Amino acid sequence: KAKENGGNRFHFYSEDMTQDALRKMSLEEELRQALQEDQLTVYYQPQYDLGNKKLVGVEALVRWNHPEKGLVAPMEFIPLAEERGLINQLGLQVLQKACTQCAQWLNEGFDPGILAVNISARQLTERQVPEQISQILKFTGWPVHRLELEVTESFFISDTQRSLAVLNQLRDMGIKLAIDDFGTGYSSLSYLKQLPISKLKIDRSFTRDLIDDAEDRAISEAIIALGKSLGLQVIAEGVELEGQADILIHEGCDQAQGYLYGKPMSAEQFSLLAAANPVSEGLTETSL
Ligand code: C2E
Ligand code: MG
Ligand code: MG
Ligand code: MG
Repeated sequence: KAKENGGNRFHFYSEDMTQDALRKMSLEEELRQALQEDQLTVYYQPQYDLGNKKLVGVEALVRWNHPEKGLVAPMEFIPLAEERGLINQLGLQVLQKACTQCAQWLNEGFDPGILAVNISARQLTERQVPEQISQILKFTGWPVHRLELEVTESFFISDTQRSLAVLNQLRDMGIKLAIDDFGTGYSSLSYLKQLPISKLKIDRSFTRDLIDDAEDRAISEAIIALGKSLGLQVIAEGVELEGQADILIHEGCDQAQGYLYGKPMSAEQFSLLAAANPVSEGLTETSL
């Protein structure tokens, strides 16, 4: 039957499928090993206040320090980790490393401000997650009100009721919640008002062409206005140019993150930057 339907082509196609499945299986095996052997490392990217130009926080971004391939970017393994049920273990390792590092910075006299950590929508369907996060905060000593979790809108497509319950629990613990890549996902505006969130992150795809594209300017302006009227903070991601920052300031955006301010960097590099950039004065213990 396969021959009648195109013979060799069918053959090649199924061989590709096998190749792909095999490649994934070996990557999954390597990833399990990475989690066991502590091969993950965390990079840090600064977040700035657009008003006073001061450091207000830092986003933790995972990197895989692969024994042969070197540093591997998250897009190469996060989707697989989600698919194979490894994402919560991975996410908790990143959280623990980032909290440990930031607590150490505070002890040494660097104040990194708010620590933002990405949390996969998949993790929000796991009931034990709030307790696991609470344990990590206790263990590392990182103050709960200085933790912000970034979640994309994709959690709306799976088990929304349970995810909402977990989000509410995290908020009740005192953790801040941000919607990452805002504007690209599935959320409806009616959901937005029910969500226990404090921040919107304007997706990089809207920031990129801000200077030349009137539609992207209109969209970013609308997101900022929406955030303001709902009492949320708004941060723009992917800011690479002064011109983009100027437009965002004009539109009333609160914060920015991007190559203009600093690329994601190792903890060592970030310490140097933090030392040279005292944290925003508005960011006292009581306002955090
Ligand atoms: P994200 O959370 O939206 O992170 C922003 C991504 O944009 C990062 O890519 C960052 O390096 C990149 N970026 C920041 N500023 C600029 C800029 O000015 N220009 C450009 N072109 N890019 C910029 P990265 O580190 O490769 O991470 C990609 C995505 O992987 C993240 O997107 C996040 O969704 C996911 N991710 C990273 N770490 C974790 C993690 O620990 N857990 C989970 N669940 N996901 C993670
Ligand atoms: Mg993020
Ligand atoms: Mg993002
Ligand atoms: Mg994005």
